[in-house]
Amino acid sequence: MADLTTNVADVRARIAAAADRGGRRTEEVTLVAVSKTVEPARIREAVTLGLRVFGENRVQEAREKISAVPGASWHLIGSLQRNKAREAVRLFQVIESVDSEELAEEISRRAVQQERVLDVLIQINVAREPQKHGAAPEETAALVRRAADLPGMRLRGLMTIAPLAPDPEQARPVFRMLRELRDRIERETRITLAELSMGMSDDFEVAIEEGATMVRVGRAIFGDRTRT
Ligand SMILES: *Cc1c(COP(=O)(O)O)cnc(C)c1O
Repeated sequence: MADLTTNVADVRARIAAAADRGGRRTEEVTLVAVSKTVEPARIREAVTLGLRVFGENRVQEAREKISAVPGASWHLIGSLQRNKAREAVRLFQVIESVDSEELAEEISRRAVQQERVLDVLIQINVAREPQKHGAAPEETAALVRRAADLPGMRLRGLMTIAPLAPDPEQARPVFRMLRELRDRIERETRITLAELSMGMSDDFEVAIEEGATMVRVGRAIFGDRTRT
């Protein structure tokens, strides 16, 4: 637990310093602790250290953990197949990985059936990496309009994953593009997109300087994983 205590304190201090550099308040930034591959007992330790929001990338893996870790809120950060939407709606408070109208419609339909309203983010493949999920930047406006209209969801903002790069500065233009895309779409559609989920262990400070309101941090909190 000692390492976890140190890591959490360290990440919090780095978030505060980055917010400061970006001229922002620390409270504007939500730390989403990415707990994929992490055992429930260790996630419960993280809860005792004050972490409350966790990110999981697989519905099936999240199912057992969520019941084993009370008092937390859960974000789905991995790609979602439509046939798992019903369960995702039951398990998660936020789905960050909506990247098509079909998926948005299915999530909404399932949420209405369960008498829930889910917070969602639209995932954008800013860098247009072929192997990555996410809508293309030019598809964003139509997707935003559609998601904002659906009864089972509250559209909160946009999410992106920057390309893997040795230097966090290489992610800065990607984060800046997401913020600028958000600003432009807000002007065009008059729909508020308050949240920007961007930044991971290697680049969350740069993301905060560029306007992130949610950072998804796994390894810097829980240590290295054997699989991703
Ligand atoms: C695994 C993952 C993260 C966290 O990555 P780290 O490098 O461990 O901080 C963030 N976002 C998504 C979508 C992920 O799959």
